[in-house]
Parts: sequence; structure tokens; C-alpha cells
Amino acid sequence: MSQNADIIIIGGGVIGCSTAYNLARLGAGRVALLERGDICSGGTAKSCAIVRTHYSIETNLNHAVESLKIFRDFDQIIGGDAGWQRTGYLILGPEAHRAPMLAVFARQNARGIDTRVLSPAEAAEMHPLLNFSDAEVIGYDSQAGYADPYLTTTSYARRAKELGVAIHTDATVTGLRAAGGLTTVATSRGDFTAPHVVLAAGPWTNRLAADLGLSFPYEISRHKVITLKIARPYEKTWPIVKDLTTPDKIYFRPDSGGVVLIGTGDHGDPIDDADTLTDAIDEAHLERIGNLIAHRMPPFADAQYVAGWTGPYDIAADWNPIVGAVPGYDGLYVAVGFSGHGFKLAPTIGEALAQTILGQEVRVPIADYGLDRFAAGHALHGAYGIGSIS
Ligand SMILES: Cc1cc2nc3c(=O)[nH]c(=O)nc-3n(C[C@H](O)[C@H](O)[C@H](O)COP(=O)(O)OP(=O)(O)OC[C@H]3O[C@@H](n4cnc5c(N)ncnc54)[C@H](O)[C@@H]3O)c2cc1C
Repeated sequence: MSQNADIIIIGGGVIGCSTAYNLARLGAGRVALLERGDICSGGTAKSCAIVRTHYSIETNLNHAVESLKIFRDFDQIIGGDAGWQRTGYLILGPEAHRAPMLAVFARQNARGIDTRVLSPAEAAEMHPLLNFSDAEVIGYDSQAGYADPYLTTTSYARRAKELGVAIHTDATVTGLRAAGGLTTVATSRGDFTAPHVVLAAGPWTNRLAADLGLSFPYEISRHKVITLKIARPYEKTWPIVKDLTTPDKIYFRPDSGGVVLIGTGDHGDPIDDADTLTDAIDEAHLERIGNLIAHRMPPFADAQYVAGWTGPYDIAADWNPIVGAVPGYDGLYVAVGFSGHGFKLAPTIGEALAQTILGQEVRVPIADYGLDRFAAGHALHGAYGIGSIS
């Protein structure tokens, strides 16, 4: 049986759910969201959910700043709990990063985000375990923090449903067919047809797009996250640390249970299919990250491994999101390629995509994220090179 909608969203991660909520809030009509598993069962479930605004690329900076305002006041603005925890964010870098850091700080400060360079003594007051001996510059973003990816995504989904979105879980999309200005989406729960379709299936997006003869310029990689503990609890108010002096560009933050959670901002391990991902963490990774952490926080020389998991990055050709209408495909929209930084941008990406689909004024523009930027020679390159801190 075919079910009609005005807009179909494929993917119930944080991007699809934010888009669904914003479409409903802005009066979109009949919106259907199709998710093959449960809400928040893809890449978002594995996210470290760090929310900071330090970006050298203007569009990233704008979305990060405006999305941060939503995370901070999630219950008032969206309704529900995002699990927001403000901690601040320390960036440790080599001297070469001082100039770009100061340039970004000036733009963050102009937007009301208090940032500055700290002395090692000032930084040590915020985080007593850190060794700053080889950190030539220490930046501080006072407004950053982290959220809970599951709470955030399910809150968006619940609010979307309350506003009339039809959310179909266990609805695996098996094919797409476009004809006569309509796209038919075949699923394990029957066909859905609409004039507007949003592809928000994270690393699985190209698998779906292939039916329409499309392939978006992103690759998939496997990213590992581990948690470690020592006898002393890792305080939940200690700032998140981004260590740009390490080859893996590690970052770490407090996690529940008094442990530290550590991820990497590097390229990860390339994979062809996100469904082949397992949560196994190899010994070599544990040893390498363990050594980097022990150097940065000497009390962690005797740390105990607590848990580890992996998650897929959908890394765009220039490490920046691909969002908006798909040129040459009437009524087709995409939001993919978030390259390890999609969680923090999701509130305003969903808003801007909804406004674009509805032909409304876009409050936080996404034009720079268009797919056509690659062919036009306008790929987005940040001051820190590739990686999720562009
Ligand atoms: C380890 C890790 C750490 C990260 N840390 C951060 C961070 O600290 N800060 C930050 O900002 N970002 C971070 N990110 C990135 C961020 O989490 C992602 O960019 C974001 O969650 C992507 O959301 P999404 O909705 O695009 O994708 P997903 O959450 O993957 O959602 C896509 C959905 O599509 C569904 N789907 C797939 N195929 C089908 C089909 N055939 N039919 C129906 N549904 C389908 C999937 O089940 C899935 O639920 C991290 C990512 C990882 C992996």
C-alpha cells in the first residue's frame, strides 16, 4: 500500500530528527520520517556529542554558535532534555596554531562567545591533571560542553511526533524511484510517495542515492572511542581537551561514572560499508592512546580500561557538510558528510534545511554547504587543515 506525504525524511539520527521537528514547527504539512532501526541507532548513538564553536570556516562557526544557544536552552526552545553539560574547552596546540586560533577567537568573541589564550598556570586551575610542557599555545572556549546524543535525538523525535510527524521505525528503505515530480520510497513497511525527499541516512546515504544514479563525495571511516579511569574520579566540570599536538588529534572529556572518554579527530580507518563496523578496539590503539593520555595526564600512567566502541564518520571530500537541494533532482535534498562534527551543528542544520524546503527565509544560511561547491572550486578549507576542527 502506498502512503502519501508532502515530505519524506530518510534517517532517524540527530540530523533527520532535527529536520523533522523543524519542518513540523514551520508548518510543513504531512511529514513522514523513515528509520530502519530505532530512533538514534546509527552514527549519532556513537557520538561523543561535544558542542564547541571554535571553527575557522564562517558557515561552521555560525551554525555552531546558533546551535549552541539551542543546546544551552533546549527545554525552553525545543522541549525536553538534551543532557547539556557546560565544561569549557581547552585547545592545546603547537606555536603554528597561535595565529589561526587568535583569528577564530576574535570572531567567536564578536558573537558573544568568551574565548582567550591562557597561561599554563591559568589552565592548570581549571584542570589539575594536565601536563602543559609541550603545549606552546593554550586556547580556552568558555562556553563549550557536551550533550547526550540519545536524549537530544529522541527529544527532537518526540517533539516532531507531537507536532504531527509520522515516525516509522523498523522501516528499512529498500529503493527509490523518481517519476512525474514524485519520489516513491520503497520500504519494508510498504511504499511512501512524496514530492520532497530528504536523504539523511548518514554513512548509508550513498547506498540509497545509487538508485537515483547519484553518489555524494564522502567516504566512510571507523572511529574509536575508549573510556579510562583512575582511582580519582574524573570531574564532570573539567574542561574538554582538544590536543592538536598529537598525530591523532585526540580529544577527551568527562563521561558518566567518573571516567574520561577519549576520541580521535584524525582520518580513522577507511571502511566500505558502515554495516561491517564492530565495536572491537585493538590493543595497538589502546596502547597508543594510553601513552598519549599518560603523557598529557601523568596520573593516567596506571589507568584502567573501562569500555570502548566504534562509530562511522561520513567524511566529505573537504571535511565539511553537504546540505541542501540536490542540483538536477527536483524535490530531492541531502544532509550528509558531517565529517565528525554533525552533532553540534544539528539544531540549526535541521532548521535551515526545513526553511530551504519550505521556501522560507533561512536564518542561518547553508548555501556554502551545497553539493555544487566541489564542481565550482569552492570546497571549504579550514585553518587547521583536514580534521573535525575545521
Ligand atoms: C565516534 C564518533 C564521535 C563523534 N563525536 C562528535 C562530537 O563530539 N561532536 C560532534 O559535533 N559530532 C560528533 N560526531 C559526529 C556526529 O555524531 C554525526 O555527524 C551525527 O551524529 C550524524 O548524524 P546523522 O543523523 O547524519 O547520521 P546517523 O545518526 O548515522 O543517522 C542516519 C540514520 O539513517 C538510518 N538508515 C540507514 N539506512 C537506512 C535505510 N535503508 N532505511 C531507513 N533508515 C536508514 C540509520 O539507521 C541511522 O539511524 C561523532 C561521530 C562519531 C562516529
